[in-house]
Amino acid sequence: MALLQIAEPGRATAPHQHRLAVGIDLGTTNSLVATVQSGQPRVLPDGQGRMLLPSVVHYAADGSTAVGQDAQALAAAHPLDTIASAKRLIGRRRADLPPGSVALRLEDMPGMVGIRTQAGLKTPVDVGAEVLRRLRERAEAALGGPLVGAVITVPAYFDDAQRQATKDAAQQAGLNVLRLLNEPTAAAVAYGLDQGSEGVYVVYDLGGGTFDVSVLRLARGVFEVLATAGDAMLGGDDFDRAIVDWWLPQTGRDAGGAELAALLREARIAKERLSSQGTVELRHPAGGSLLLTRAVFEAVTAGLIARTLVPVRKALRDAGIRADEVDGIVLVGGATRMPQVRAAVERHFGRAPYTGIDPDQAVALGAAIQADQLAGNRGADGLLLLDVCPLSLGLETMGGLVEKIIPRNATLPTARAQDFTTFKDGQTAMSLHVVQGERELVAECRSLARFTLHGIPPMTAGAARIRVTFQVDADGLLGVSAVEQISGVHAHIEVKPSYGLSNEHVVDMLRSAIGAAESDAHARMAREAQVDARRLLDATQAALHQDGDALLSPPEQQAIVAAMQAVSDQLEAVLTDAQARAGEQPDQQPDQQPNGQPDLLAQRDALRAATEALNRATATFAMRRMDAGIRAALTGRRVEQVAV
Ligand code: AMP
Repeated sequence: MALLQIAEPGRATAPHQHRLAVGIDLGTTNSLVATVQSGQPRVLPDGQGRMLLPSVVHYAADGSTAVGQDAQALAAAHPLDTIASAKRLIGRRRADLPPGSVALRLEDMPGMVGIRTQAGLKTPVDVGAEVLRRLRERAEAALGGPLVGAVITVPAYFDDAQRQATKDAAQQAGLNVLRLLNEPTAAAVAYGLDQGSEGVYVVYDLGGGTFDVSVLRLARGVFEVLATAGDAMLGGDDFDRAIVDWWLPQTGRDAGGAELAALLREARIAKERLSSQGTVELRHPAGGSLLLTRAVFEAVTAGLIARTLVPVRKALRDAGIRADEVDGIVLVGGATRMPQVRAAVERHFGRAPYTGIDPDQAVALGAAIQADQLAGNRGADGLLLLDVCPLSLGLETMGGLVEKIIPRNATLPTARAQDFTTFKDGQTAMSLHVVQGERELVAECRSLARFTLHGIPPMTAGAARIRVTFQVDADGLLGVSAVEQISGVHAHIEVKPSYGLSNEHVVDMLRSAIGAAESDAHARMAREAQVDARRLLDATQAALHQDGDALLSPPEQQAIVAAMQAVSDQLEAVLTDAQARAGEQPDQQPDQQPNGQPDLLAQRDALRAATEALNRATATFAMRRMDAGIRAALTGRRVEQVAV
């Protein structure tokens, strides 16, 4: 049993529906979720209009959790049960962490670090999952439906364990990870650099507590991370401390505990204001105030700015790139709003950095753009090339034909869906044959896998809707799933399509496809004529069985049976001929059989003529069946009940 495709290729419903997908910046201090709406990426706020969700989780004794601002409010009273900066711990073992670097009750767990809380032992994956779950709920509430997936960003320097742990957290949060994306790459995508000219780009990311710099090379649409460097102990918070260090001696007082915290808060506000004004007033919580000018602020923080340039030089050196060879600089992180940061970057590279996008949002916005592409909302344009499918991937359909689902050269990762239906009345299973190659006929493609979807509720032919989704991840791993939409029964299989395929093999398959294009087209038409004929035979047989005696005279029945016999004979002839060819010339390709072409075309034409004759012979019968159906529907009802 095979498939009958009802949706026209390229006109399937799934790829044209807007699929809800988001980009998530899972940050050390704050996280954001963004999506693309009407072609524009935007960050989704919570119900109170807040964009940032602090990456903080509080575990209460009763097992409930508070996340974000709510958790932050509980941090002072419950420091050991309120976990911030879990990203620094994710994918790490306790032995990886410097002793005393984390003010939490840490424990060893197999392959990871555990955190003892009043609600039990938690892992950084659990904490990440809570943050991600909130963001998923926020997005689903804002977008009005379940997400098909998310692109989640990670630092470029994250190793496999840290990436896997981030994926685990997403899965725990009920998110389908379309892809993990490097944060600097996401920022570059937000600026549309992947659509622009090839070259080398630097991403300078100064957040609250950390500094990261990455050197990326864009070639043929692919971003490659050439080098990363950074300082995990340098960020915007150090600029707040520099203000307090300058201020405190002038107050004639010492400060500690709550007073120091209040001064730091005041300093942070002053710092942020100085990004847009020349002077600010520092108000001491115990009374008195002092003016701070931007010039003084820049003088007391010059050392911090200079410190950021140390990793910048290192990253450039590691990448083998000179500062003047860099084609663009992207700024990420709230602290890059400080004018002295922008000026220092411009001096160092001899060109102004890009600043058009909110530096807090750039990573999430870039992830959203990528998610939109991976969800298939953008069509073929503007896909971020990472890797490409060497050969098309498709399914066998009726008549031994191939329906291509993922075309050759599609950028990976990718996902495409198409709807299929049942061929026979009462069909409860469907076998799916996954093939790879450019040819029209299954026999000439490479068979990758077969699996069966069982449990389809019995329906008339064509009533079931089976959505088949092909998903190829960034590693080239193909997953095929089939879901019957009414009953929800599903089946799934994973294959590695490139396994065992050498370059020469790919080239051979392409060459044969190009050479055989014309003969393949003829073969496809011949097969389609066979499928049409078989379907008409089956339908006529069923109709005769049901209504033949009631609606047709014996001579009318005989005429139809004769027309059926003619179609049947033609089909038989075609099949016998195909078997004979297969037996005689098992290895020959159609393009090596120029003499076979007229045969195929003649057979197709004869079969079509017989099918059309049967259609004509059954026209009156079909009309009578329709009339009978209408009469049955109207029996016993008054005119006003059926009038429209
Ligand atoms: P992030 O971790 O990227 O959210 O960055 C937070 C850091 O950016 C904090 O140190 C903030 O004080 C700082 N920041 C946010 N807005 C500004 C601003 N307008 N000027 C200077 N620093 C800012």
